[in-house]
Amino acid sequence: MKMKVSRSLAGFATLALALSAPALAGGPTSADLANDAASTGDVLTYGMGPQAQRFSPLAQINASTVKDLIPAYSASLGGEKQRGQESQPLVYDGTIYVTGSYSRVFAFDSHTGEKKWEFDARLPDGIMPCCDVVNRGAAIHGDKIIFATLDAHLVALNRNTGKVIWNKAIADYQAGYSATAAPLIVKDMVITGNSGGEFGVVGEVQARNVDTGELVWTRPTVEGHMGTLHGQPNGISGKTNATWPGDLWKTGGAATWLGGTYDPGTNLVYFGTGNPGPWNSHLRPGDNLYSSSTLAIDADTGVIKWSFQTTPHDGWDFDGVNEFIPFDMDGKKLGAKADRNGYFFVLDRTNGKFISANKFVMQTTWANGFNPKTGRPNYVDANRPGPPSADGKGNSVFASPSFLGGKNWMPMAYSKDTGLFYIPSNDWGMDIWNEPIAYKKGAAYLGAGFTIKPIAEDHIGALRAMDPRTGKIVWEYKNKAPLWGGVLTTAGNLVFTGTPEGYLKAFDAKTGQELWKFNTGSGVVGSPVTWEQDGEQYVAVMSGWGGAVPLWGGEVAKTFKDISQGGSLWVFKLPKH
Ligand code: CA
Ligand code: CA
Repeated sequence: MKMKVSRSLAGFATLALALSAPALAGGPTSADLANDAASTGDVLTYGMGPQAQRFSPLAQINASTVKDLIPAYSASLGGEKQRGQESQPLVYDGTIYVTGSYSRVFAFDSHTGEKKWEFDARLPDGIMPCCDVVNRGAAIHGDKIIFATLDAHLVALNRNTGKVIWNKAIADYQAGYSATAAPLIVKDMVITGNSGGEFGVVGEVQARNVDTGELVWTRPTVEGHMGTLHGQPNGISGKTNATWPGDLWKTGGAATWLGGTYDPGTNLVYFGTGNPGPWNSHLRPGDNLYSSSTLAIDADTGVIKWSFQTTPHDGWDFDGVNEFIPFDMDGKKLGAKADRNGYFFVLDRTNGKFISANKFVMQTTWANGFNPKTGRPNYVDANRPGPPSADGKGNSVFASPSFLGGKNWMPMAYSKDTGLFYIPSNDWGMDIWNEPIAYKKGAAYLGAGFTIKPIAEDHIGALRAMDPRTGKIVWEYKNKAPLWGGVLTTAGNLVFTGTPEGYLKAFDAKTGQELWKFNTGSGVVGSPVTWEQDGEQYVAVMSGWGGAVPLWGGEVAKTFKDISQGGSLWVFKLPKH
């Protein structure tokens, strides 16, 4: 290691070098990442800990002081291309790392907001992101920042310079694959999923050596496909044709597009899976494993240890990708997931056993609850869209939630203090019908049409506090436009989330009372984080309106037609007294 020092300061420099050597030499290790939830001086993982509880023990900013919160600085992503900024910042050693729309990465000085470097991925023509050109965040390990691109690559950059260290294709973008999730790093492996569930792709989870990008294991998430370990066959996922007819499993979807969480206690990585392909469920009788499920995968081998399907035989695009958050209650090792289908699930995270499923939205037309013994939904058959006729549209039905979900990608948070989950949810429905469809490489593979509709006069978005013990909503905050940003909760009895109207807001974690808001100038659809620096607590969030809602919102677009695009990092702290 080289270090410039003046002769007279050589003695002090030796001391300084000793104190800062770990950060300068190696950067965060897998052990540091596993400990991220407890280390308040940094944010090293998507989810603020591999379990993604998004809870900080910091309390300098709290229900009493938050009213004084002010901007410390803001930093623009610049460029002509804006669109949705769904990234969660990472903070390490004086630098904030964020990803931006169009597969960009930025490093900013965490004290001043000055830009250190920027990396713009050179994207080919013909990428096929279904739902805006977003990216949800990077991963950090050692000297690397790693992120996924819209052309389905995984790229490792030098965290000090932004220069490429390795770059690997995870799938073929010309077949409709893409990638937007933040990678998960476990035991020196970088673990990612893929996107493309609207194009007849095959969902997969891949683990790679974080230093080289070489594959360690793969696990396809559609029944019938072969997994690998160190390049050798490692067993088929499920049993070919057990839950899929004919050849449809070959283009069966179940994309793992939101990434995963990790529980060191069970050594399991939890990945959710998207809709089965095509949307038209009449073409594929059966449960269509492992679509719309949570999968628990052995971190060392990529073998599926258990699975739980939240929407068997999905017919509404109820992707089950939502984050599965490990938490403990009454001495039990549990996990929770607020599903796109409108139900909040609690499972035994060691074996996938069903504990409970409770509605967290106004309305679920497709099912009347779940059978407590089997953990399967009580379907309302009349509310499944009908089969298409030979030459066209089948019977249209009204369905709620809409395909954009009771909750979409935006991550919830769990407070160890209140024992509550804070769910960014939406109340909306859709008219949906089926149409004939055949698979064609690189073409949309829906076999369905839809129109999204509001179902309440006063709101679409609702931030809801869910008690996992009772399945009851403890409080809710209603928002006119759909909520599309992540949630943060802290030991300061606070819950933070953003709104499309441009605000970052803070609520009392126990009562839901709104305590503070600040308008960032564009819609907030990113995930806020907090950390401590020089004795002060900071909060950061990305601002920049976009994501799937403006693309697919139909009638609900009225609620956000006046919102401008943007692309900025906003950082807040309390004034110094
Ligand atoms: Ca940390
Ligand atoms: Ca989908």
